[in-house]
Amino acid sequence: MDLSRFPRRRYTSFATPLELAPRFSQALAASCPGGVGPRIWVKRDDMLGLFPGGNKTRKLEFLVGDALAQGADTLITCGAPQSNHCRITLSAAVKEGLKCHFVIEERVAGSYSRSASGNNFMFELLGVNSVTVVPGGANMLQAMQKVADEVAAGGGKAYIIPGGGSNAVGGLGYVACAQELQQQFFEQDVQIDRVVVGSGSSGTHGGLLAGFLGNHIRIPIVGIGVSRDPADQEPLVHKEAQAVADLLDVGLQIPREAVVSVGGYWQPKYSIPNAAMVEAVQMLARTEGLLLDPVYTGKIMAGLIGLARQSFFKPDENVLFLHTGGLPSLHAYEDVVLGRTAPAA
Ligand SMILES: *Cc1c(COP(=O)(O)O)cnc(C)c1O
Repeated sequence: MDLSRFPRRRYTSFATPLELAPRFSQALAASCPGGVGPRIWVKRDDMLGLFPGGNKTRKLEFLVGDALAQGADTLITCGAPQSNHCRITLSAAVKEGLKCHFVIEERVAGSYSRSASGNNFMFELLGVNSVTVVPGGANMLQAMQKVADEVAAGGGKAYIIPGGGSNAVGGLGYVACAQELQQQFFEQDVQIDRVVVGSGSSGTHGGLLAGFLGNHIRIPIVGIGVSRDPADQEPLVHKEAQAVADLLDVGLQIPREAVVSVGGYWQPKYSIPNAAMVEAVQMLARTEGLLLDPVYTGKIMAGLIGLARQSFFKPDENVLFLHTGGLPSLHAYEDVVLGRTAPAA
């Protein structure tokens, strides 16, 4: 599909690696029924630019391209206290010479602290212009619009980026990823049977799905919910995928049944550690030297491990795990990841 007509900035100068994880695949198989399990490949989107980058980098290439095309001098976005998306948006703003403001949603009262480590430390180091903290359940768009009005009153022009950068424009980043993968499958002669991806604000899952269907890549995608079970998550992903397809204007209808997600791995709550996440983070670190994060990729990989142990994959399947990044928040959860304190569930 033709992405060249959309304004885009480039924050990564290479295709992120597509790597086999042989020692992890072996350890996983040993813990599966009959000692057989799938072969796991990893798409290293944790190596994207705006270091330490992640899936938000791909969305921001198109979102910031759009902001600059509209003449904006300020980015406004929102997220949870340890938001990777806010941090990567701020990096993009710094690189482009734009101002940047956050609205942080405190789903747990008092959970945001300017002096916390991980992403919060980086907000300060990168020089965020302002942080407005609102309580859980607040109307984030309204709160961001209020900041945009203040920017306008001061003579500036703000561009509002929704949570996770997940709208039609942001989703184009994962259409680009689908096309990058298609090329890599061909060049590396790899036949992938299924892709496992995190499913949160849904730009990654929805964008990748639109990209696969639009490019006739017939590989099923399974989303692992990081904050919602399928009944709530799948309609969001479907809406996002259709919005991306509509923006591309290629006459693509996203079949509802192409949207598949799995719940149960994010509990007890978004961002709250569980035992399966700790196992996944330790397992990848100790078999592949690969670091996962506690909020997203640890739980997403826990989903992949759980599905493998339930024989969801055929034993000879090649399964691709999309590593979406998130490493800075690992430092905010050191004790639980090392097993010094017990996870909540
Ligand atoms: C935001 C995020 C996700 C979820 O992606 P969405 O596009 O919001 O669904 C997954 N992993 C990491 C590390 C993230 O920061």
